[in-house]
Amino acid sequence: MLNIPGPVSETVLEIDLKALVENYHFLRSRILPSTKFMAVVKAFGYGSDAEIVAQKLQTVGADYFAVAYAKEGVRLRDAGITAPILVLHALPGNFDQIIERCLEPNLYSLKILKEFISFAEAYGQTDYPIHIKFNTGLNRLGFNASDVPEILKLLAATKSVKVKTLFSHLAASEDLNEKAFTLKQIENFKEVSEQFSTSLGYSPWRHMLNTSGILNYPEAQFDMVRSGIGLYGYGNDPKHDMMLKPISALKTIISQIHELGPGESLGYNRAFVASEKRKTATLPLGHADGISRLYGNGVGWVMIHGKKAPIVGNVCMDMIMVDVTDIPCTEGDEVQVLGSLSRADALAATAHTISYELITSISQRVTRKFKN
Ligand SMILES: *Cc1c(COP(=O)(O)O)cnc(C)c1O
Repeated sequence: MLNIPGPVSETVLEIDLKALVENYHFLRSRILPSTKFMAVVKAFGYGSDAEIVAQKLQTVGADYFAVAYAKEGVRLRDAGITAPILVLHALPGNFDQIIERCLEPNLYSLKILKEFISFAEAYGQTDYPIHIKFNTGLNRLGFNASDVPEILKLLAATKSVKVKTLFSHLAASEDLNEKAFTLKQIENFKEVSEQFSTSLGYSPWRHMLNTSGILNYPEAQFDMVRSGIGLYGYGNDPKHDMMLKPISALKTIISQIHELGPGESLGYNRAFVASEKRKTATLPLGHADGISRLYGNGVGWVMIHGKKAPIVGNVCMDMIMVDVTDIPCTEGDEVQVLGSLSRADALAATAHTISYELITSISQRVTRKFKN
């Protein structure tokens, strides 16, 4: 049973599944109907709920799912996800989980390819689906073009695995100042993947684009795209804000109001000292819920009755205090921390970080509720 939102009585993350489906359809509208769509649901569905999000996307036709680690894929299988699941960061210690739960590993180095082949042979596998990742400039995970002859040799010597896709990842798809670099990465990928497929004798699907790649370089969609952040409503560029809708709202309530007189301090280490009369509200969420200490001392804010209330003093583990001197409000009133009035990308920017980090930080202590 889904946990449906009612009046807010504690800190909750409300997840709008209709917005998720609309974001999915918008992203799909930017690619050809024949291009497959891999939904990236790593890190608890970017801090939402990977299982519920994947179930919803499976019903509307997502072709593939991607997670970072094998254990995330296991949770999706336990939640009834039958679509193929790519494990972006397979590790040798997880091969048994991968094979037992029919997860598909990204193999990115000669070492891990050899180890997976031995493992698949020991498990008596034939044509086990694997994915080969090429490094085209990110220099994070992936084979270099010079590895191709050795990969082909290893593959030719076994029947245990079959290459389902070839892929690569862009370093700066959201940054149009890096367009020349991105185009070079796309060119590198085309070259290495064509050479690879020709020698392999069959053509695995190819994919390269993340969300910003879909929006900025649709000509490089190949056979499939991999989208994460866009599904959750962020497009890395204000020009997409009209089309994508944040799916999650982080809400809470005012626990207590305090009146501070001139010279009185607030919170740990007396980081805030009132120079004149102030009214503050204490809220039941803190850095253990995902509001980093970087947002304290006037950097971040929350919305109360449609008005911005800056965070004052240091963020505590379980609480923050906000300045409500000019906002008529009372104990028990609803507070929006993230949502339509307070976007994660805008709040994250105040602490010199990005929406990805802020939304994936919302901790498992926060109750998730689902609408639509
Ligand atoms: C996380 C990830 C994605 C998704 O990126 P978004 O910018 O969230 O769309 C795609 N590909 C790889 C390899 C990733 O690690």
